[in-house]
Amino acid sequence: MNSPHAVAAQAAAAQPVPTCPLFIGGRFVPAADGGVIEVISPVSEAVIAISAAGTAADVDAAVIAARGQFDSGEWRRSSGAQRGVLLNRLADLVARDAELLADMDARCIGRAPIEPRLLDLPNAVETLRNAAGWADKIEGRTIPTPGYMGLKTLSYTVREPVGVVGAIVPWNTPLMITCWKLGPLLAAGCTVVLKPSEETPLSALHLARLCQEAGIPDGVVNVVTGHGRVVGRALCEHPLVSKITFTGSPEVGAEIQRVAGPLFKRVSLELGGKSPQIVFADAALANAVQGCAMGVFFNQGQICAAGTRVLVQRPIASAFAAQLAEAAASVPSGPVAKQAQFERVNRYIRAGIAEGATLLAGGESQHDKGWFVKPTVFADASNAMSIARDEIFGPVATIIPFDTEDDAIRIANDSRYGLAATVWTGDVARAHRVAQAVRAGAVGINCWAPIDARLPWGGVGYSGVGRECGLSGVQAYTEEKVITVLLA
Ligand code: NAD
Repeated sequence: MNSPHAVAAQAAAAQPVPTCPLFIGGRFVPAADGGVIEVISPVSEAVIAISAAGTAADVDAAVIAARGQFDSGEWRRSSGAQRGVLLNRLADLVARDAELLADMDARCIGRAPIEPRLLDLPNAVETLRNAAGWADKIEGRTIPTPGYMGLKTLSYTVREPVGVVGAIVPWNTPLMITCWKLGPLLAAGCTVVLKPSEETPLSALHLARLCQEAGIPDGVVNVVTGHGRVVGRALCEHPLVSKITFTGSPEVGAEIQRVAGPLFKRVSLELGGKSPQIVFADAALANAVQGCAMGVFFNQGQICAAGTRVLVQRPIASAFAAQLAEAAASVPSGPVAKQAQFERVNRYIRAGIAEGATLLAGGESQHDKGWFVKPTVFADASNAMSIARDEIFGPVATIIPFDTEDDAIRIANDSRYGLAATVWTGDVARAHRVAQAVRAGAVGINCWAPIDARLPWGGVGYSGVGRECGLSGVQAYTEEKVITVLLA
């Protein structure tokens, strides 16, 4: 009993079960009808928290608080420099409580706490600091024109905050993704109602506490936990919400567009992926194996950018597959976040075997205690198989051999997704050729998923609409207005 998961489970078992209320207008309150959701540990299957199950009435109260704040102008009309100061203060507090926040996320989804401590939390802090830096640099443009009816004019643009944002977040890296939304939207002068995932309410509530401690005015940040089809849906339908920013599955993303689109809300969607990692025969093999292993097995594959479609040039395909299988065998089984994920991963593993791919490592997992799955490698697969076409969101690599550079690009682009891609090669010209030809929002050359707070993140096709992080992320929460004055 000394794996990181077992140690974390023992530590969690010793803690009292926290009760998480809603956070509306600066006050912690229960759900209007007293409803609750049990948060279950994927490691021990014990109840580890009780969170409020918000209702449409709670969403209405939170949106009214956010809209009231927005209309008062207290936040939106404060100087960008002042918002930057408060965002930097929030970043300091997140850094101060980083261990606590990382442990909250780890406990809810069964991750070893070291992972969010090392990756998610530093990224969240950097994101808030990056947004703080943009807050006083949201600039317009002066645009020369021939004038108006023969008279001289001056035309310039200003960027204004879109209004109240409904931010809907998934469970896989909750605090980090929440900060990808919160930092930029606060920098832009928006107010927000955050809806965390049912599985991971703890860190969002603590973040709300930190916003208050940082001095961000009440009503700017509100949190309504609860079921997606109730709280998420009510946010999408609410007339006072101007923008929905969503991270999650394409199925729910499509539903959000169906509901919010006809109401002409701005909608940004960060969805799933089936990202290719393309390994050429001239790549440094050990690095490529290590990078691909990380791209598939990290966080049990529950990463939107997971590089699970591994395209390998034929001369090295068997050697590569054997080494990736060896790497998989050295990674211990870990829990996925919930029973539905466990069943989904097993279903795809059975499908891979039935469709004729060669199982080299892992395979179907049996349920004992906790939703543990085995790192799995399939070789000799084709891009037509379901394990190559669908996002499994589990630690399953699908190795597909290819012959030429053109083949690799064709197979990589034969996907409805387009979030990330990786090119492994020793040829610098080929690296850039392929990077430019692949349909994806982000391409790593000889490195998997180099996510950074300063770099835009988002996808094309079923991987989503819009970009988060950096300047693009901040601008996404603004409307550009043009003003023309007659100079006569
Ligand atoms: P999900 O789509 O099931 O849920 C995401 C959020 O949407 C949750 O808060 C949920 O309660 C809410 N929701 C559910 N139904 C809703 C509805 N009808 N209306 C409004 N909101 C609703 O996704 P998940 O299982 O939490 O996360 C996994 C998915 O997220 C994967 O597809 C993964 O690739 C994707 N993801 C994408 C990125 C990215 O940056 N592109 C990052 C992380 C995860």
